[in-house]
Amino acid sequence: MAAARPKEIFLLTPGPLTTSKATRTAMMRDWGSRDTDFRDLTQRVRARLVALVHGQGSHVAVPLQGSGTFAVEAMIGTFVPKSGKLLILVNGAYGQRMVKICQVAGRAHAVIETAEDVPASAQQVEAALGADPAITHVAVIHCETTSGIINPLAEIAAVVERHGRALLVDSMSAFGAVEIDARRIRFDALAASSNKCIEGVPGIGFVICRTTALDKTAGNAHALSLDLHDQRIYMEKSGQQWRFTPPTHVLAAFDAALDQHESEGGVKGRNARYARNCKILVDGMRSLGFVTLLPDHLQAPIIVTFHQPADPRFHFETFYNSLAAHGYVIYPGKLTKADSFRIGCIGQVHEAQMTGLLDAVKTCLRDMGVTETGPAKRAA
Ligand SMILES: *Cc1c(COP(=O)(O)O)cnc(C)c1O
Repeated sequence: MAAARPKEIFLLTPGPLTTSKATRTAMMRDWGSRDTDFRDLTQRVRARLVALVHGQGSHVAVPLQGSGTFAVEAMIGTFVPKSGKLLILVNGAYGQRMVKICQVAGRAHAVIETAEDVPASAQQVEAALGADPAITHVAVIHCETTSGIINPLAEIAAVVERHGRALLVDSMSAFGAVEIDARRIRFDALAASSNKCIEGVPGIGFVICRTTALDKTAGNAHALSLDLHDQRIYMEKSGQQWRFTPPTHVLAAFDAALDQHESEGGVKGRNARYARNCKILVDGMRSLGFVTLLPDHLQAPIIVTFHQPADPRFHFETFYNSLAAHGYVIYPGKLTKADSFRIGCIGQVHEAQMTGLLDAVKTCLRDMGVTETGPAKRAA
């Protein structure tokens, strides 16, 4: 905090994250919401989002003003009718948020909760659906950003389909960096946002919907501005409008970010860079003695949770501020059980930033006089 602000800031956080100059430059003009240019932009972005999950002909993308939570809340309110019941698979804060959304929207729900370091289980879903015929929908977090754990989406989708129920997915922190094939994984709706793995600026959430399922949702929504059915109708009427003031500049930046995603090799290319970032980070931190919350096979290449060191000379605030002074912004932990912190692998960050961060961590530990970097007690 006391140190001079570094020249360049890298956000090693799960969004907003570091964006490219090309993405930020795309915002340097104005659009009228009725311009043909702007309408084309909207339709192009919608089509590109559908193509990323191979949903051409079967799915539509419905963008919405707001952050990711707006999209999740719109997804639940639009797809789960007032007479429906949502089974929510919880293993972190974003699953808990879905529970809260149901409470506010007045949707009946049930919860299967696993520990923050334990993936959601398809077997448990199987049992719950067999036992409770009132459940109409199941909701899962694809990558639970609380810990960085990847949940078994394909297995859960197969169980939900076999039981003839509908699947809603919060793929916020995975979309664009983890392969999702809508031809193989059946979901009614999948929500994500502009400012995660596509690396746009914040301000747009979107839901990719199976068209025939969305068609049946008229009148379900609990909130006017969160009605995806209505939003889609407006966007496909002759005027091709957003219902309310569109986030014009954010959309232009999003389209530019999608260009860069494509030239990097799409989902495969992006996944490869993030996986490289993640490996450099995890190997480097382990060589300094830090311990990850998750074993490698449960870790998504999105964000990594580390236990806080047991050493009493370690202070998170000092650590955070010192890394920020070097230009690296990390993220506090959100675990309920253990003291932790998180470092993201996503955004316009590459090998140079990951090794730069590791150097800054080394310096900071030395300055604090921390020698014992392992956690106080072994993770259960
Ligand atoms: C980021 C994120 C969200 C949305 O958070 P906002 O702060 O509303 O953008 C939802 N779910 C997951 C898993 C996320 O990572």
